[in-house]
Amino acid sequence: MPQAVIPIADLGRARRAAVPTQAVPTSGLLLDQLGRPLTDLRISVTDRCNFRCSYCMPKEVFDKDYPYLPHSSLLSFEEITRLARIFAAHGVHKIRLTGGEPLLRKNIELLIEQLAQLRTPDGKSLDLTLTTNGSLLARKAQALKDAGLQRVTVSLDGLDDTVFRSMNDVDFPVAQVLAGMDAAHAAGLGPIKVNMVVKRGTNENEILPMARRFRGTGIVLRFIEYMDVGATNGWRMDEVLPSAEVVRRIAKEFPLVPLEATAPGETAQRWGYAGADGGHDPALGEVGVISSVTQAFCHDCTRARLSTEGKLYLCLFASGGHDLRPLLREEQASDEDIASAIGHIWQGRADRYSELRSQLAPDDSGAPGARRVEMSYIGG
Ligand code: SAM
Ligand code: SF4
Ligand code: SF4
Repeated sequence: MPQAVIPIADLGRARRAAVPTQAVPTSGLLLDQLGRPLTDLRISVTDRCNFRCSYCMPKEVFDKDYPYLPHSSLLSFEEITRLARIFAAHGVHKIRLTGGEPLLRKNIELLIEQLAQLRTPDGKSLDLTLTTNGSLLARKAQALKDAGLQRVTVSLDGLDDTVFRSMNDVDFPVAQVLAGMDAAHAAGLGPIKVNMVVKRGTNENEILPMARRFRGTGIVLRFIEYMDVGATNGWRMDEVLPSAEVVRRIAKEFPLVPLEATAPGETAQRWGYAGADGGHDPALGEVGVISSVTQAFCHDCTRARLSTEGKLYLCLFASGGHDLRPLLREEQASDEDIASAIGHIWQGRADRYSELRSQLAPDDSGAPGARRVEMSYIGG
């Protein structure tokens, strides 16, 4: 059973970010304690969602009494854009909007318009993308594209309607998510990626139908190991189906060849579908596996996460964040001071939760660290 949840507003673990005595100017390259640059920012734009995926927002916890953040706590679009500009000056060149369900945030396309104006220190536009459950995509795809969004990642945990409806736990049909993906494709929001969280005993029989469906379509399907994020999903190691097993099952039907990572710090390991000559056939495309449980990739983790109310998290499994909002509001700090505060925080980062967890005994479902923050709050 999931534990009773402590309201996020009461967690009180976020330290107020402070301006350090020594300035940390923006140079486009900011390294942490383990030499990892800050290049990737995930911004959660809402803590609400219209799905109740059991691995993320179980219904028993996220019910009608759940204390979601009040609107006044949320960063405004101007505040988000201001921070994103400072992050870009520190070297962030990829921004992913997430949540909760990001398409529930009212007028999200206005935020995208503002973010699309940002530039890296060498004048390039940022890689701007969004992860969504797809439920509102059919309606919004064109407006998102027009606002400057480049790509979308759609989460879909299976093609069997019974399995999918039970995993999203709000009886949402597969067909509407697929319609959302079609609309995204038609609007030019590609290449589309599809994320499937695999839970042993729940949707493992969907692995092959999903692979068959998306092979050769230009859509990149990625299998994510069910993770022990947050404190409410009642995670158990025996429900994790290791990525190596996913690859083995697919390769039995469709031969696969390993592909190089496209970028350093990439979370997914890529596998290409082989053609008749045994080599990768680009027309057949590829699949990816994100092995956050069985193969830690902390050594090149270049991601920071900004919560809906402006707390900066240095690791998906962090129990505490750094509250940037007082700098924006009460303290009215300058951009230089905020850049120094962010720079100082990143320079002190030594998080590598998954690597530490992999050092636990294999049957130990316990995990290092204190109570962790929910995925729906800081985004995946
Ligand atoms: N609501 C959007 C969605 O579902 O795409 C965006 C937010 S969701 C938190 C981001 C990603 O995290 C989704 O692909 C989701 O499947 C994944 N996720 C959530 N809980 C997870 C867990 N316990 N293990 C692995 N992935 C998880
Ligand atoms: Fe909502 Fe996404 Fe979490 Fe599912 S994974 S409950 S769609 S935030
Ligand atoms: Fe990055 Fe933390 Fe995940 Fe390691 S556990 S890859 S440091 S987010």
